[in-house]
Amino acid sequence: MPRTFAMIKPDAVQAGNVGNIVAHIQTAGFRIVGMKLVQISLQQAQRFYQVHAQRPFYGELVEFMSSGPSVVLALESENAVQKWRDTIGATDPAEAAEGTIRKLYAESKGRNAVHGSDSDENAAIEIAFFFAGTELVG
Ligand code: UDP
Ligand code: MG
Repeated sequence: MPRTFAMIKPDAVQAGNVGNIVAHIQTAGFRIVGMKLVQISLQQAQRFYQVHAQRPFYGELVEFMSSGPSVVLALESENAVQKWRDTIGATDPAEAAEGTIRKLYAESKGRNAVHGSDSDENAAIEIAFFFAGTELVG
C-alpha cells in the first residue's frame, strides 16, 4: 500500500489542534503506520527543507519548524501522496479549499499547520528521515 509523510507543524501543536488533525486524518481514510512527537533541531529543519535553501522564506521557515514540538506521521492509503495533498489543501490557507486541514487550522502561508510529501520518492525519503524501520507498523 502506498505511503506518504505528514507533519503537524509547531503552530498547530501549540494551538492544541493535534487531536482534531489526527481525527481528520482517520476520517479521511488513512491508516496511521507511524506517529510520534518530536522537536527538530535547526540543523534538521535545514536538511529537511534543503530543496528550498535558496528561497527568501527559508530562514524563517527553518526557524519556525524548530521552534517547538511537531508530530510526524507515516500514512498509508491508495494514492497516499495525492490524497494527503488534497486533504491538506493549498500552501496558503487563503487559497485552500473549504474543509481542508489548512483552511480549518492554518494561520498563514508560513505557519500552515501541516506538511505533506509532494511525490512517492520524497515520501520515502521523508519517512526514512524521521522513522526507524522498527517505528513503523506492518
Ligand atoms: N512557505 C512560506 N512562504 C512561501 C512558500 C512556502 O513560508 O511563500 C513555507 C510553508 O510553511 C510551506 C513550506 O514553506 O509549507 C514549504 O513550501 P512548499 O512550496 O513546498 O509548500 P507545501 O508543499 O508545504 O504546500
Ligand atoms: Mg512542499
